[in-house]
Amino acid sequence: QVFGYRDFTQQAKWDSVFMAVPDAKLAGQHLKTLTSAPHWASSPEDYATAVYVADKFKAAGLQTEIVPYKVLLNKPVSILIEAFDANGKQLMSGPTPEHVDPKKHGGDPFQDDPRILPAFNGSSPSGDVTGEVVYANYGELADFKKLAEMGISVKDKIVLVRYGANFRGVKVYIAQQYGAKGVLIYSDPADDGYFRGDTYPKGPFRPDSAVQRGSVQFLPIYPGDPETPGIASTPDLPDSQRIPADKLQNNQPSIPVNPLSYKDAAPILKCLGGAESPRNWQGALPFTYHLGAGGPANASTSKVTVHMHLEQDTALRTIWDVIGKIPGTDPAQKDDWIVAGNHRDAWVYGAVDPNSGTAAMLETVHGLGDLLKQGWKPKRTIVIGSWDAEEEGLMGSTEWAEQHAKELNHAVAYFNTDVGVAGPDFGAAAVPSLKQFVREVTKEVPSPKGGTVYEQWKKTQEANERTGDASTRGGPSRFNAQVENDVRVRDLGSGSDYTPFIQHLGVPSTDIGSEGPYGVYHSVFDNYNWFTKFADPTFVYEQQQARVFGLEVLHMADADVLPYDYQLYGKEIVNYLETAQKRAATAKLTLDFTAALAAANRFAAAGTAIRTRQTAPPTHAAALNQSLRGAETALLNPEGLPKRPWYKHTIYAPGEFTGYAAVVIPGVTEGIEAADASRAQTQLTSLADALNRSAAILESAAK
Ligand code: GLU
Ligand code: ZN
Ligand code: ZN
Repeated sequence: QVFGYRDFTQQAKWDSVFMAVPDAKLAGQHLKTLTSAPHWASSPEDYATAVYVADKFKAAGLQTEIVPYKVLLNKPVSILIEAFDANGKQLMSGPTPEHVDPKKHGGDPFQDDPRILPAFNGSSPSGDVTGEVVYANYGELADFKKLAEMGISVKDKIVLVRYGANFRGVKVYIAQQYGAKGVLIYSDPADDGYFRGDTYPKGPFRPDSAVQRGSVQFLPIYPGDPETPGIASTPDLPDSQRIPADKLQNNQPSIPVNPLSYKDAAPILKCLGGAESPRNWQGALPFTYHLGAGGPANASTSKVTVHMHLEQDTALRTIWDVIGKIPGTDPAQKDDWIVAGNHRDAWVYGAVDPNSGTAAMLETVHGLGDLLKQGWKPKRTIVIGSWDAEEEGLMGSTEWAEQHAKELNHAVAYFNTDVGVAGPDFGAAAVPSLKQFVREVTKEVPSPKGGTVYEQWKKTQEANERTGDASTRGGPSRFNAQVENDVRVRDLGSGSDYTPFIQHLGVPSTDIGSEGPYGVYHSVFDNYNWFTKFADPTFVYEQQQARVFGLEVLHMADADVLPYDYQLYGKEIVNYLETAQKRAATAKLTLDFTAALAAANRFAAAGTAIRTRQTAPPTHAAALNQSLRGAETALLNPEGLPKRPWYKHTIYAPGEFTGYAAVVIPGVTEGIEAADASRAQTQLTSLADALNRSAAILESAAK
């Protein structure tokens, strides 16, 4: 018996009809078409992909529309980065175009397309700055603190940081607060290049000239169109409702930022004098890394000066979401949407990111279409979203979610996929109420490796834990211990389109995809050639992904009782609070956890009680379902988090200083991290209020 169903027999039939449809070959064809040209958000090629997706939605019988928004995007006009040594000798001038030798290992058939934009960072302003370089490792808060401890100031310097550890926009957020005048972010071969394995086109890792593009907006403050936090940037939105371009400091950097390959970064790093970097700041380039400043008082410091000249055309541009609907048929629950989505725009070709997800989603839709033709009548309405401009800051999803906030207030789930397939190892993140739901779905889907997706997922995760490899999606979180003895489902942080749904609106969400060695992220080489060599040559993992994604939708659309697990949710929250309490004690902060712990225990007990009710539901479960869903909304704090009111969830947020990684009970945790006892105490009160509100809903529904 599957949780949420009175009798799973009928559902099992629809599941097997569905499972037979998603087709590996067709997924491969979708991928090939979607990635045939660079399709940066707002470009004509991006629009062509919207039309392709809309046609497939229509063919499957979905009510389909292409929905435009107008959002602020920068497009590079000219980018110059040059470096000089202390004698004024030029060390490099770039950026060097991304290129691999066409005569070795088959070369790359996509690298010479004239439509490829030079490598740049979304949300970087234009600028012309010249300054001395300081190396700051990953650009984490701890790295900048370490430099300060060593007496090294980054004020008016150009900070060189490497990719990895945190979200790139956070690197800039911190560098700017420390007074830097420009930031360069490069890919070190230690993190995704030759130190990890053979590089493209021989292997899957990043070659010397490949650059990681990416947004540097301050995502942890708010995502979406920078000028319209909280409201939708529809094409007819009057300018008076937009924040003027010169008042976007909360979300947009004020200093120029550009990414670099290690081919371009190496000459700078190699020449840096000053103190040796801390040994764990050393990457894999073949020389000793120095900080560019500091060191013994009379050490001969060889200075490197960088000149950045960035010209960006920053303007309101039209982007296009594609929205497909299958109307629900249960009069009492048809308005409780299931939303499933994936972004479609790419920095360049985006074979893995995001179109491996799009190709799979189109085969999911193919399956749903066949079910409809065979007479399937979903209880709840299904909405499929193909989001645009995710890369610039989750824009298409955020604008749509803000526009439909009212309907989404009772939407029962948001299922995300971004990188659908980068390799063979399944992984997932979810709100705790849906962790077991994801596992159940994967138990129904066969794996190309044999057995089920669930079994393979578990096996890989156990093997990784044995070898101490925590780099896969299921790896241990920095902030909390696992409270269950099962395959690990991660917490939702940010960096993809689930953020507006769960963290702004409280729609229970999941994020799935399968992983593998993937060193070409956001470069020109994330293309069909790379994909068919290294990720999924026969598209069987595409098929797997389409099936898992589709079963999530089917199960949620038809469940008698919403299969949220509040018992586990409660346990997790109690655990978060106990962890926070220990950290507060270590930091010698005097905080009173009594009320928050009592509320968490009350919520956990209510979770156990409601579970009993869910297993023996009334014939008409609409009211019970409404309460189950309302319990998640109750976890929102309408005031939002300190400094970032757009983020309203009291249990999960992207960390202010992590961006990608989730911070649990964020108000409290970040108050403690900042050693701000009064902030943390206020946040404990808001958390206790939210937990009590939510527990009260569950308690009365459990009666
Ligand atoms: N997936 C995008 C990235 O990680 C999201 C960018 C953003 O939210 O600003 O680069
Ligand atoms: Zn993506
Ligand atoms: Zn991306």
